[in-house]
Amino acid sequence: SLPWLNASFDTGFASLGVEFATPTEPTPLPAAHWVGCNEALRAELGLPPDVWQQQEALDLFTGNALPAARTTYASVYSGHQFGQWAGQLGDGRALNLGAIQTPAGLQELQLKGAGPTPYSRRGDGRAVLRSSIREFLASEAMHGLGIPTTRALCVTGSPAHVRREEVETAAVVTRVAPSFVRFGHFEHFASNGQIDELRALADHVVIAHFPALQDKQGAERYTALLHEVTQRTAALMAQWQAVGFCHGVMNTDNMSVLGLTLDYGPFQYLDGFDANHICNHSDHQGRYAYARQPQIAYWNLFCLGQALMPLIDEQAPALAALESYKQAFPEAMDQRMRSKLGLTDTHEGDRALVEDLLKAMQQDRVDYTVFWRRLSVAVRESAHSAHAFEPVRDLFLLREVFDAWCTRYLERLGQTPRQAAGDTMLRTNPKYILRNHLGELAIRQAKAGNFAMVQDLLQVLHAPFDEHPTYEAWASLAPEWASSIEISCSS
Ligand code: AMP
Ligand code: MG
Ligand code: MG
Repeated sequence: SLPWLNASFDTGFASLGVEFATPTEPTPLPAAHWVGCNEALRAELGLPPDVWQQQEALDLFTGNALPAARTTYASVYSGHQFGQWAGQLGDGRALNLGAIQTPAGLQELQLKGAGPTPYSRRGDGRAVLRSSIREFLASEAMHGLGIPTTRALCVTGSPAHVRREEVETAAVVTRVAPSFVRFGHFEHFASNGQIDELRALADHVVIAHFPALQDKQGAERYTALLHEVTQRTAALMAQWQAVGFCHGVMNTDNMSVLGLTLDYGPFQYLDGFDANHICNHSDHQGRYAYARQPQIAYWNLFCLGQALMPLIDEQAPALAALESYKQAFPEAMDQRMRSKLGLTDTHEGDRALVEDLLKAMQQDRVDYTVFWRRLSVAVRESAHSAHAFEPVRDLFLLREVFDAWCTRYLERLGQTPRQAAGDTMLRTNPKYILRNHLGELAIRQAKAGNFAMVQDLLQVLHAPFDEHPTYEAWASLAPEWASSIEISCSS
């Protein structure tokens, strides 16, 4: 059965062979049930409308049964974790089903939490319901925001116990991406001196995912690959920073070569603005604090560059590719922040305007998302109201600091047509983000067997720039208890 899956099957990454893809069977889970179903992605992938009604699909996406002649595999990678070489890692709890041809191009499907693999080390190969719902909603929130990310098709759950800090229950997320290749895949073959495999991997990535580079040969091709990954990563970092996203575990094995947001663990979208915010309870040094992310990405790119050196040979071109980040990231960041401010041209003082705003927000821990949304509304209203900025001003304790900044901002806006600028800002500054406490509420309900909030949040987060009057409460400030939610690497 599942003819839709086999009909569109393509080997994708697995075509690289067993050095890359280790055949591994999923381990079944008892009494599987649906937790979250992403109808929008189902349609984008061209899967049949009744897929959520198919017992075979529930079995498949839980890893309980595979279609005939299908093998799942785990891939091997290595990486730097918290700045240290960690050696071999690999898919410890993710199994690839292979790729399928879809209207959206070739997509790899991956089951996260479907049981142990040869790379599980001391882990159990499982994922808990809590973290699976977080990954499901966060991937789709990211997509709704227009930020490159792996997608999530569904979550299934099981009453099977999984031991973490306490006993929880198991779940499986079906992730979808054109490729799950990580910086760590390259580091793996480079560190083992497997240069043929390293080249095969680089060629695969270029031909399958960067076709514009495929006419280049030899060192030039791999330098171009490094340059392209650098550019994409710079663009991604600007998008994370602009929306206030903290990844939490930016190890090189969690960095996508396609520049996708990958591996949602202890992530957080900022509530009150704090440049030093650390969302990962296990990150004692704050290596992955919000403001450090762009610099960490650059560090990670150097690890990728190092891994590609056997293919590039000369240092100068590799360094030039990497150093393009120093221009690409600030440019992308300036552009994002100008858009958030409703500015369509470039002025010399723009960066200072943004820096001083963030300083003021930092001082009062002003809610990052609420601020930008209120500012967008204020700019639009200011076309016909003298009091338009008061709801923004109300967010600050130090009113005079905001007033001084606002005067500069209004000067900068100058003759900009306010209504149009405000409308553009409302398409740039989301009303809805996946705040920790919203995820937490959905998880609590799901643990009690009610999956309605998971599904409702998914809908709202798919359209985060729109008004959703029924869910107005989800756009408001985080409650007091939100700051006590602790998220660690263990999930
Ligand atoms: P992460 O910090 O989540 O990116 O995980 C780092 C490594 O640990 C990856 O190789 C994961 O596959 C592996 N891993 C994390 N959790 C588990 C688990 N419960 N069982 C097996 N492997 C795991
Ligand atoms: Mg990972
Ligand atoms: Mg993880």
